[in-house]
Amino acid sequence: MQRDEQLKKITEESLDVLVIGGGINGAVSFAALAGQGLKVGLIDRKDFASETSMHSSNLVWGGIKYMESYEFGLVRKLCMSRNQLMSAYPTNIRELRFFTNLDRGFRFPAIMLYMGAFLYWLIGNCCTGPPRLLTTSKIRDEEPVVKTDKSIGGIEYSDAYLPENDARFVFQFIRSAMDRNGIALNYVESLGGERDQDSGLWRVKVRDQICGNHHEIKAKVLVNACGPFVDFQNKALAQNTKHQHVFSKGIHLIVKRITPHERVLTFFADDGRLFFAIPMGKRTVIGTTDTQVPKPETHVTPEDRSFVLNNINKRVELEEPLTESDIIAERCGVRPLVVERQQDKTITDWVKMSRKHEIDVDTNQKTISIFGGKLTDCLNIGEEVVEFVRECGVKIHENTSIWYGEPGKNEHDRFLQKAAKIRLDDFTPPDASEQSSSRLWRRYGSKAFDLLDQIESNPELKEELIPGSECLKVEATHARDHEMVVHLEDFLRRRTKISMMISQKNLEENPATKEACQILFGDHSVDRWTSFIESSQVQKDVALN
Ligand SMILES: Cc1cc2nc3c(=O)[nH]c(=O)nc-3n(C[C@H](O)[C@H](O)[C@H](O)COP(=O)(O)OP(=O)(O)OC[C@H]3O[C@@H](n4cnc5c(N)ncnc54)[C@H](O)[C@@H]3O)c2cc1C
Repeated sequence: MQRDEQLKKITEESLDVLVIGGGINGAVSFAALAGQGLKVGLIDRKDFASETSMHSSNLVWGGIKYMESYEFGLVRKLCMSRNQLMSAYPTNIRELRFFTNLDRGFRFPAIMLYMGAFLYWLIGNCCTGPPRLLTTSKIRDEEPVVKTDKSIGGIEYSDAYLPENDARFVFQFIRSAMDRNGIALNYVESLGGERDQDSGLWRVKVRDQICGNHHEIKAKVLVNACGPFVDFQNKALAQNTKHQHVFSKGIHLIVKRITPHERVLTFFADDGRLFFAIPMGKRTVIGTTDTQVPKPETHVTPEDRSFVLNNINKRVELEEPLTESDIIAERCGVRPLVVERQQDKTITDWVKMSRKHEIDVDTNQKTISIFGGKLTDCLNIGEEVVEFVRECGVKIHENTSIWYGEPGKNEHDRFLQKAAKIRLDDFTPPDASEQSSSRLWRRYGSKAFDLLDQIESNPELKEELIPGSECLKVEATHARDHEMVVHLEDFLRRRTKISMMISQKNLEENPATKEACQILFGDHSVDRWTSFIESSQVQKDVALN
């Protein structure tokens, strides 16, 4: 019903702006434009955030590595973006310590790294805890899993991260824009379109990926936020841009927690790049890689896996070294890196390529294309897109509402009181990584009150959905009614992080997963279960070939 209504609205009404692509860049554009009171729509050909934005390292960081290439302007900008995100999202974005060990032969002594980290801290307005210089014995005492036989000491500094799923963070922007009358649809693909010179409107042809029907969407301005597919979409729209993308693949492996401490273990991998073991609830996310690839469609190869496993096994001492059988889930995405179109494509130092974003605007054609970027920079992208839409001639009223951020402290306190009243946390499983009330607030913001109301009228809904999932039954009923879940995977991987906590095999074998499917899809649950199993088989086949 929800989907049919959205489809009817987006095809019948003529929009001010259509955003194509629902990763972080599309989602913030959509939210910022809806916050200005514009009539704005967003479509994604798959689920929201189902490409690069669900494969990041979850770090919201000021770009400490750019200190080495003296890009202080970029570092300052990223630090300010990080600080702004940390203050707007106090429960979604948390400060985290990066505990860094250096081995003999590293290109700088520890003291120099410490001085760099100190400067980084100053550039970031000292908004986080200050850095520390670590001796080898301190590293050994504080983090015994780190191998210190070749250590020359290290440093600890702060940045921030998303303890939740990056894809869920993206979805929250989309959901908030929908509350401001934005119209969003997943599984609707843009096939390209034309600008009608008489009406001045774009007519974009789209295909509903669920039933195969074709429709047309009309809009004054188009925002191309297709991430790694921006160039393909511009071709379909017959648009030329100054910039284009090249691609770098990055993978992460998810394993059981390798240290109980809530901090990132930071190393320099064999290729000299920063390499992280990042906490995610009861799991550790290890990566990443940086490999040039010719096209955006990629998957994890055996070489990628062994690169990550070898590097971590060389640097941490566990009871047994990690092997492929310890991998619970994998993440694999391509970074869309921006280059000027005429630039020679034989890039010599791939890893040192800038990760900044560029936005190309054509005020005659009324198109805006977003290239590159980082999650960290997302609020700036939203603000910049609003300005470019204005330049394209769409009237924007001043003094419109703030389009991002969590509800305030009073609202949060009121939620915690209500959660305590219904004794929500009494049912948090003893091995859970956090209390259910913290998680519900972080994931749902003020909508979490509705979840408490549902639990109050049906206490069974506060039970865990699937053992070990850190997700309550009420979250599935909420997702069914409000979160545009089309496939089981949308829920398990993007609205929650269940499929990164529990392996695909265990999920398939557990009857509770089928029950979750039943809650989510009712009469359609058998079809959705079958497609869940089939799509996992397809992924296994792709990985094998
Ligand atoms: C391994 C890795 C680690 C990273 N780590 C970090 C990090 O720690 N911190 C950080 O800040 N950044 C990080 N990044 C960068 C960040 O993740 C990306 O810059 C960002 O997610 C890109 O978002 P996007 O919206 O441009 O693209 P995407 O997320 O790829 O979104 C594009 C969307 O467009 C849709 N689409 C494509 N074609 C069409 C069409 N024809 N019609 C409709 N929809 C279409 C796709 O389905 C997709 O959902 C990392 C990236 C990688 C790969």
